[in-house]
Amino acid sequence: MGSQEVSTVDWQGKHVTVAGLGVSGIPAARALHERGAIVTVVNDGDDERARAQAAELEALGITVRLGDGATLPPSTELVVTAPGWQPDKPLFLAAAEAGVDIWGDVELAWRLRGTNGREAAPWLAVTGTNGKTTTVRMLASILEAAGLRTAAVGNIGVSLLDAVLGEQKYDVLAVELSSYQLHWAPSLRAHSAAVLNLAPDHLDWHGSMEAYAADKGRVYEGNTVACVYNAADPATEELVREADVEEGCRAIGFTLGTPGPSQLGVVDGILVDRAFVANRQKHAQELAEVSDVNPPAPHNIANALAAAALARAFGVEPAAVRDGLRAFRPDAHRIEHVADIGEVAYVDDSKATNTHATEASLAAYDSIVWIAGGLAKGATFDELVTGAAKRLRGVVLMGADRALIREALTRHAPEVPVVDLDRTDTGAMSEAVEHAARLARPGDTVLLAPACASMDMFTNYNKRGEAFADAVRAHAEKSA
Ligand code: ADP
Repeated sequence: MGSQEVSTVDWQGKHVTVAGLGVSGIPAARALHERGAIVTVVNDGDDERARAQAAELEALGITVRLGDGATLPPSTELVVTAPGWQPDKPLFLAAAEAGVDIWGDVELAWRLRGTNGREAAPWLAVTGTNGKTTTVRMLASILEAAGLRTAAVGNIGVSLLDAVLGEQKYDVLAVELSSYQLHWAPSLRAHSAAVLNLAPDHLDWHGSMEAYAADKGRVYEGNTVACVYNAADPATEELVREADVEEGCRAIGFTLGTPGPSQLGVVDGILVDRAFVANRQKHAQELAEVSDVNPPAPHNIANALAAAALARAFGVEPAAVRDGLRAFRPDAHRIEHVADIGEVAYVDDSKATNTHATEASLAAYDSIVWIAGGLAKGATFDELVTGAAKRLRGVVLMGADRALIREALTRHAPEVPVVDLDRTDTGAMSEAVEHAARLARPGDTVLLAPACASMDMFTNYNKRGEAFADAVRAHAEKSA
C-alpha cells in the first residue's frame, strides 16, 4: 500500500480480539465496536480497576474476559494487541497457528486513519534506543514554527488513535515509535523516518539484538522522501540499506561533524543542511546555531539534527527549524538543570535508565559527581565506566544492582572515590545528594544519571527525579 492510500477494511460483523485493557486497548476496542466489529477484550489481570474498565465496555456491548489473556476466542478473525505484550504469548502462538493477523496499536491507527471523513495526515516517524521523545517534541516544535497543524504523538502526548480519529485536523504528525510498536505494525508507511541510534535494550522481549534491530528497521519500510540515519552509528545506515522504500526516497545522514553531501551536520557551531539544498556538492544551508539547541549537549544536538532532517524532508524552511529549536523546552528529568549551589551544578537525568543514555549524559560534562544505581536489567557497566573514568570526581551508588557498577569502577577507575549507600529505600536520595555535595568541587556537575531502571526504589523515573530535585533544594536551604 502506498503511503497516502487509506485502507478500507469492512469492520461490520468482523470478530476482533483486543489483547489487553489499558491505554491502547480501551480506545481500540471502542473504535472497532463503533465501526461495527464484534469485539472481545481479553486481559490477564482481574483486579478492581480492570473490573471497572470492563463494566464500562460491557455497557457498550463489548465482551470482556478478565483473568485469561492466553486463550484465543474461537471465532477471532483479527487480534489487536497492546504493544508491550510479549510476542511468544500463547494467545499470539494460537493466532499464528490459526492464520489470524496480529496488529498493534500503531497498525490499527495506521489502518483507521482517514476513515472518519478527514484527510489522512502523513507521518514523520522517529525511533531509536534513546532520544525518541526529545526528537519528536523538537520536530513538532519545528513543524509548528512552520505554521503546520501538527502534534507529537505515539508514546507521548496525544494518543495515536485520537490523533487519527479525533476532531482535530492535522497537516502532518510527529510520531514516536517504540520497537514493540514497530514489531506489530507491518503495513505502516511513513512519509520519512529516523532511527536515532541502536544499542542493546529490551532484548528479553525481542529475543536477540538482530530481532530488535529488524523491528526498529521497519520504520523505514515504504518511506517516500527520506530515511534519516545516524552517521556515527553504522547499524542505523545498514537498516536504511536493507529497507524497501518508494522510488526516489533518499538516505539522509546526520553527524556532529562536517556533513558530506546528503547529510546534516555541524560546522563552526552552526547546524547546517547539505541534503535539502539546490547544489549539495558545493553548498550548505545554515539552519540554526548550536546554542539554539536546548540543552546543547552533543547527543541532543544529534537529536536536533535528526528532527531538522525530517522537517526539511517535509519541506520546512530553514528559519522555522531555528525558531522551532529555540522554542523547544525539554521534558522533565532529561538532563534537567535543577540548581547551582556554591558553583556546583545539579542536573537530573533520571530518564537515563540504560547505559547508552547515561553514556551520552556523562559525555556532556567535564567533571562529574555521578549518582547511579537501580535495576540493571541485565546490563554491564565496564564500557560505560571506562569511557567516563577521567571525568569522574566521585560516584555515589544506591539501589538493588549497585554492586555491578561498583565492580566496574574497581576494575576501570580504582582511583575514583565511591560512596556505596547500601540502601534501596526511597529516602536514600537525600543521603546521596549530601554525599555528592561533599565530593563536588567548584565547577563540577552533580549528575543523577542512574543507568538503571528505578522500580527497586521508586514508582518510576519521574518520582526518582523528583526525589533528587527535592533533595537538592533541601541541600540548598541548608547551605544558604
Ligand atoms: P526515549 O523517548 O527514546 O526514551 P528521551 O528523549 O526520553 O528518549 O531520552 C531518554 C534518555 O536518553 C535521556 O536520559 C537522555 O539524556 C538520553 N538521550 C537523549 N537523546 C539521546 C541520544 N541521541 N543518544 C543517547 N542518549 C540520549
